[in-house]
Amino acid sequence: MTTVTELDAAATAGVADAVAALAGRRIAVLTGAGVSTDSGIPDYRGKGAPVRTPMTVDQFLASEAARRRYWVGSHLGWRAFAAAEPNDGHRAIADLEMRGVATGVITQNVDGLHVRAGSRRVVELHGTMRRVFCTHCGQVFDRRDLARRVEADNPWIAVPENIALGPDGDVLPESTDGFRIPECTVCGGMLKPDVVFFGEFIPAGKFREAEQLVHGSEALIIAGSSLVVNSGIRLLERARRRRLPVVIVNRGATRADSRATVKIDAGTSEVLRALAEALPE
Ligand SMILES: [Zn+2]
Repeated sequence: MTTVTELDAAATAGVADAVAALAGRRIAVLTGAGVSTDSGIPDYRGKGAPVRTPMTVDQFLASEAARRRYWVGSHLGWRAFAAAEPNDGHRAIADLEMRGVATGVITQNVDGLHVRAGSRRVVELHGTMRRVFCTHCGQVFDRRDLARRVEADNPWIAVPENIALGPDGDVLPESTDGFRIPECTVCGGMLKPDVVFFGEFIPAGKFREAEQLVHGSEALIIAGSSLVVNSGIRLLERARRRRLPVVIVNRGATRADSRATVKIDAGTSEVLRALAEALPE
């Protein structure tokens, strides 16, 4: 369970304004990394976060050394995700959907926590760490099975002291030299996690799905995203074009604060829970 702090006066007033703007409407929810920080998953774009140089898909495809480094980091990341639990924010969104208030959730997160919290209509814009696919034959693998295979092939990876991390949390090359990269068990082809890499586009069909969700809704809540990713801005503009109320919940400024009907500068777990409690069916 996450400990939820009390809302301050400004946030309480913001929640009241948001409830007035949203009440009686079917709401689409868009979430970013800020929604998962209370589950212990760091927000690399948040305030004070280290500068990160994520691997591009070209680097991944071109170099075996890069792939080794990627897979070690990805495996450790997956283990952290698998150990994380959904928080009040994820649960509030699932609850709103169950009560027919929310139409579903579009997320920039790849941690799978909305699905685990019970959300049913989930559009994972940047893919999900839960799946891995073969770039050659298309076979899809469950990440849990693959993680078992990685640990069987590389027993040393289960010992944290064996992994050297750089100051930005990335895995250093020297600790990945002996890593055996998992291959497709069907054709021996190159595997890739089902996530959108840095420098890759969101698949068109996935973005259309997100647009359709916004299109079938009468309001939009954006939670835990500073909206540096353009897909978020594009979805916000779809809602604004139809003059739908837009509520932004985020700690710190976002790129679209001036375009929101209501902006609440506070933690997403406590605000989403307050909204779920106050919004009528
Ligand atoms: Zn294959």
